[in-house]
Amino acid sequence: MYDIQEIRKDFPILGREVYGRPLVYLDNGATTQKPRCVVEAMTDEYYNVNANVHRGVHFLSQQATELHEAARETVRRFLNARSPAEIVFTRGTTESINLVASCFGEAFMREGDEVILSEMEHHSNIVSWQLLQARRGIKLRVVPINDRGELVLDEYEQLFNDRTRIVSVTHVSNVLGTVNPIRRMIETAHAHGVPVLVDGAQSTPHFAVDVQSLDCDFFAFSGHKIYGPTGVGVLYGKETWLDRLPPYMGGGEMIRHVTFERTTFNELPFKFEAGTPDYVATTGLARALDYVSALGMDSIYAHEQELARYALERMRRIPGMRILGEAGERDAVISFLVGDIHHLDMGTLLDRLGIAVRTGHHCAEPLMRRLGVEGTVRVSFGLYNTLEEVDALAEGIERVAKMF
Ligand code: PLP
Repeated sequence: MYDIQEIRKDFPILGREVYGRPLVYLDNGATTQKPRCVVEAMTDEYYNVNANVHRGVHFLSQQATELHEAARETVRRFLNARSPAEIVFTRGTTESINLVASCFGEAFMREGDEVILSEMEHHSNIVSWQLLQARRGIKLRVVPINDRGELVLDEYEQLFNDRTRIVSVTHVSNVLGTVNPIRRMIETAHAHGVPVLVDGAQSTPHFAVDVQSLDCDFFAFSGHKIYGPTGVGVLYGKETWLDRLPPYMGGGEMIRHVTFERTTFNELPFKFEAGTPDYVATTGLARALDYVSALGMDSIYAHEQELARYALERMRRIPGMRILGEAGERDAVISFLVGDIHHLDMGTLLDRLGIAVRTGHHCAEPLMRRLGVEGTVRVSFGLYNTLEEVDALAEGIERVAKMF
């Protein structure tokens, strides 16, 4: 295990106060705070290296290109992908999912073809497919959840038919914390000859992911949710799939030759990276991945599991507490409501105590409908949270509850 107090010193923001109280930051599912090494690497690149990548013969451009491509290699290692050609830089999970929906849809889906999603998807993994639905007349099939907040696998298996073209499903629910049995779901899909896109926005920050071992066909995540900068994310795709997809956007970088009559496209992964990439953010992302790897994803997982276990135990003792989602395998994300206190009131009053939580529908309105609620309060832990912060949260909830 790592020394939590030492680790906290790496995150300057954790030392600040809000409303005269020490900040208790429990909104890591929305975005995480950044360690000094990430911010410093980016500042250093702007101060000392900055030049556009892949284009210049000059020294700085080559240095910037080396940093950018080294970052790709760091991501490859982090996900255990076979080749850096399988790592496409995007702006985040949302763009990665849109890329697959758009390009896979263009290449392989016709009217009446089907995509399988789940009832616990983030809007980014619903609306992207609805946009394709509007263009192509595809159908969305949805795996339901049970009352514990787990996917009903029997129903999942029943959804496959000869029109199923792709499965696109989240690894971990950003609302319930449910960790989906993704390996088994991939095996099922492959048995039907269907590829799988995994939304890894909420899994990569919490436990080790190995795309080869999962055997997923596509995998998406966001830099800012794993202690890296905003504006950069990743789409992993098996080379065999990426090769067969058309480009997403047109522009510089993604071409080999252009004439007004005919353009040929660049090799992977550049075919999907039109325009100047955020090459400073990719450096920041690489430092963030180095940072979590040095701590050890298994240590982070163990620490966050302890926080979640303790929080659930403490919270269940609060009168009127309703925890949403009771999955057997869950991540360090807890959604709750207390009595008939509105989630927004709970969030606002916790905020006055210095405790930052999320309230609302968490970009998962279909899931809210299934749960029969308009919104929830969500606590999501990060590698730097402490048991004392869990106590502060529980005491804060009790204090708010007494006000009503
Ligand atoms: N998928 C899940 C499960 C998420 O939790 C989120 C963000 O909250 C996203 C996708 C979208 O991520 P981003 O906004 O970084 O693109």
